[in-house]
Amino acid sequence: MSQHCPGCGGPVLFVPWRIEGEFDAGMAVEIIDSTGDVVCRVDPFNGEWADDEIARMRVIAAAPDLLVALRKAVKDCRCTLIQRESGHLIDCFVPDALIAIAKARG
Ligand SMILES: [Zn+2]
Repeated sequence: MSQHCPGCGGPVLFVPWRIEGEFDAGMAVEIIDSTGDVVCRVDPFNGEWADDEIARMRVIAAAPDLLVALRKAVKDCRCTLIQRESGHLIDCFVPDALIAIAKARG
């Protein structure tokens, strides 16, 4: 059963996901959330798993963990309050991180 945010009632996106299955030729793998729900099921594009397809599946499975880590990291940049209010230092990662978080949130 899907988890829902107690605040807004929407789906909880930040539960860990894992890959279920092996990257064997012709076999689909699933990404499963921590409640056991299937997030997605993917078949190899040409019948066999290419290295880039496997890498992408691993990134997808890590997405909730990466998003949580990114949201934590954004709070810890070295910019001062004034620098944060003016858009952060030029070499600060936070503006790019906020774009990535917004992309993930839709
Ligand atoms: Zn910053």
